[in-house]
Formats: sequence, C-alpha cells, structure tokens
Amino acid sequence: VNDQPSLAHPSNFPSSSLKSNTNSALIGSKPIVIIGAGAAGLFAAAILADLGLGSKILVLEKTLKPAAKVLISGGGRCNVTHNCFDPRTLCSHYPRGQRELLGPFKRFNCEHMIEWLESKGIDLKTEEDGRVFPSSNRSQTIVDCLMTTATKGGVEIKLSSSVEELKQLDVNYLLQTNHENLFASHILIASGSHPSGLKLARLSGHNLLPPVASLFSFHVENFPFEALAGISLHASVWTSSKLAQHGPLLITHWGFSGPAILKLSAWQAIEFHQTGYKTPLWIDWLPTISLEGLEQHLLKAKSSTKSIVTVFDQILPKSLAKALLDLSEIDSSSSAQYCSDKKLKVLASKLKKWPFMMNGKSTHKQEFVTCGGIALDEINFKRFESKISPRLFFAGEILNIDAVTGGFNFQNAWTSSWHVAQAIADDFISNSEVLATSLER
Ligand SMILES: Cc1cc2nc3c(=O)[nH]c(=O)nc-3n(C[C@H](O)[C@H](O)[C@H](O)COP(=O)(O)OP(=O)(O)OC[C@H]3O[C@@H](n4cnc5c(N)ncnc54)[C@H](O)[C@@H]3O)c2cc1C
Repeated sequence: VNDQPSLAHPSNFPSSSLKSNTNSALIGSKPIVIIGAGAAGLFAAAILADLGLGSKILVLEKTLKPAAKVLISGGGRCNVTHNCFDPRTLCSHYPRGQRELLGPFKRFNCEHMIEWLESKGIDLKTEEDGRVFPSSNRSQTIVDCLMTTATKGGVEIKLSSSVEELKQLDVNYLLQTNHENLFASHILIASGSHPSGLKLARLSGHNLLPPVASLFSFHVENFPFEALAGISLHASVWTSSKLAQHGPLLITHWGFSGPAILKLSAWQAIEFHQTGYKTPLWIDWLPTISLEGLEQHLLKAKSSTKSIVTVFDQILPKSLAKALLDLSEIDSSSSAQYCSDKKLKVLASKLKKWPFMMNGKSTHKQEFVTCGGIALDEINFKRFESKISPRLFFAGEILNIDAVTGGFNFQNAWTSSWHVAQAIADDFISNSEVLATSLER
C-alpha cells in the first residue's frame, strides 16, 4: 500500500499491467467481487475504478437499493465525516478499533475523504460541532458521487443478488448467490452488520463478536421530567463502572438523549447490554461548578428575599430548576432564607450527583450502529485483509469497530475500504507503477 492516497485516473493503469497469474484462471468472470453496495463497498469500488480496475469488479447487493443507509443517514443529510484531521484525536472517538485504526488513519483520514469528495466536485460544509455534510443537505449527493464514480469507471453492480455461501478453492473463491455461482480471486465483504455477511465470515473461519447495539437513548424508570421533553443543557452523566461523559443532554419523553448520552451508550455498549439495559446512572446537572462552589452559591442566596428558583438563573433552565426543587421538597417560590443550611447542602450534593435508574433504550434516529463483528486480531490492518484467508478483505461495520456519533462511523467505512482498494490494486498492478503514478500527481 502506498503511503499517500492515490486519486489516479483510470487511464493511468492500462489493463496490460495486470499480473497475469491473478487474471488467468478467471476468464469470463470478474476477479474482484465486493459483497454489499453500502458505504464501504461502493467506496472501495469507486477507488478501484479511479485506479483503473473498474472493469474487473462486480458488486453484489442483496437489496434493490444500493447505499440505503447512506440515504437515510444524518436525518437524510449524511454526516459524511468529521472535521478532525489528527489521527490520534480521531482514534479517540472509537470505543472499538481505537488502537487498530491509528496506522490506517495516518494513511487515509477525514482530510483525505474531504479532498476526495471535493475532487469529485462535491461541495461540503462543516457545522460548528465539527460534523461535515454535503452543502446540498442531501445524502443523495454522496450516493450519486459513489455510484457515478464506480459505474463510469466500469464497475458492474448487480442488485437483488445475495451472497449465501463462500468457499475458498485453490486460488479462487467460490461464491453462491441466490442466482448463480461465481469465482473470484479477491473478495471484499462489506455487508455491514447484516447477519448473512457475518455468516460468510464465520464460514471462512473467522471469530465473531456478537452484535450489540450502540448509540442509543436511555429510558428512565419513573421518569419525573416528561413534561420537560425538549430541554437541552450541558451535563455530565456516568454509571458505576466508567468515567463520566460530558456534553449536551436532551430531556425526552422517556428519559435522556443527546451527545453526552450517546457517547456513554457507545463507550459502555457491552456493559449496558449485559445488564439488559437496566442499570443505575447519575447526572451532574451543573458540571461547571464544584460542589463547594455550589454550596456557597446557595448559602449566599439566604441573604436575599428573592424566591429560591432565581438562584439558578443563568445556570439551569427555569422549568428544570423548578422540577428539581419540587423533587427535593423545596418550595421553589419561597425564599432561600427559609431553608436550613443542611437542606441547601443536601440539595447541592444531589444536584451534583442525581440518581436515576435506566430501564431500557430507544434507537437514536439520526445515527445508530452495532458493535461486534469480525474479531480485530484476525485482520491485517495494512490491507484490511483476513489473516486466515488470503485475498479476503473486510471493510466497514462488519468489523468490530464503531464510533460515537459525528461522521466517524462513515469514516471507518471510507478508511477501511480505501485500504482494501489499495491492497487489491497492489496485487493487480506492480507496486512501482502505482507509486510512480501517485508521485506524478
Ligand atoms: C439511521 C442511520 C443513520 C446514520 N447516520 C450516520 C451518519 O450521519 N454518519 C455516520 O458516520 N454514520 C451514520 N450511520 C452509520 C453508518 O450508516 C454505517 O456505519 C455505515 O453505513 C456502515 O457502512 P457499511 O458499508 O459497512 O454497511 P452498510 O451501509 O450497512 O452496507 C452493507 C450493504 O451490504 C448489503 N448486504 C448485506 N449482506 C449481503 C449479502 N449477503 N449479499 C449481498 N449484499 C449484502 C446490505 O444490503 C447493504 O446494502 C447511520 C446509521 C443509521 C442506521
């Protein structure tokens, strides 16, 4: 794999440069088969098309709709990547895959993806929180870009074609779809979290970690804030086992959502699953004020005749402050003068560590993923190739890699499939030719 992303044009790679041994046994068939026309499968096809290998590729997609998840992603806008260009910082957004992705992100990361999309004429915009979207605000823009690059480069895409069996023969693989038997020397399984793709991986000898939901909202037992649904504030949230997550917290009809909750759901996806999504959690409603600072703030209010709820002006939404006082059996309309020091201190410590009982979860509609999939110690991360079966590659969500929300899950799909494309190109084209072409740019 060359160190720099190559955006070389197809014409740079004449078919005569293909290694004859890889090609000879495959007359009448396509030597490269990609299973799944999702984000990862289509991006690998597009990069291979850019590298001049499009006519060697067959993409098999089980549904009638390629890139269906890309279309619905980001609420129909597709949060395609994130404005995070440092590989180490980028890795910190991945609860699973953090260590393994460092090398790959040094070679192809968000910056390279942005460059690639812009090289295809796609206008992008970065929102305040760092999420990157197409300026059109339409995920169709990204789907069109992937599909056009692949098909114009000669890639064949067969819809309604589900791969059901995979068997390694001497040099080639035999694939059985719902329509036909096919042979190929190079296979990319980019089937997302779909069980049929995981079955193919198991058939080829891979260990799988069971699929478990990540990125979800919390239901809370006896939830007292239903009437406050829609309020968002900065808070910290944690369970008994891990560090707190900080960020915007959204009150919903059933419990909590928003970035702080989604991050916690991703980092503790396995633990939440093990408890059946029933576990104690705590919220610090005022994470920017220390306990001592809050105690002093409340005790100082005793010198004023104003109602106690005004103590929280500027630091908590008024309706939430009122609800929290009600739950603490403090009359929000009375003056702090009438509260004992002890009661105010108890209130302060409760506001810093308010207990809840999680009691179930809801899917976050804007973005969700599953963790689990192919065990990462079975993958060579220079090529995203199986260590068990040569020329069998994996990219995207099928790997036991997932990220917090923000465009990072797609970035895993882009980075892994870019590496697969480079590795396959390396096998088909001699290294020197690939490097020479990328140096010419
Ligand atoms: C509602 C929603 C919104 C999201 N929004 C975002 C977002 O804005 N930003 C972000 O970074 N991430 C987002 N994600 C996550 C992101 O969509 C996934 O991480 C990404 O799509 C994974 O890409 P993939 O190619 O690995 O899998 P997929 O996109 O799931 O593609 C897999 C493809 O393989 C096909 N397939 C499966 N099995 C077979 C088989 N046996 N034979 C043939 N074909 C097969 C499937 O039909 C599918 O088309 C969102 C997810 C959801 C559900």
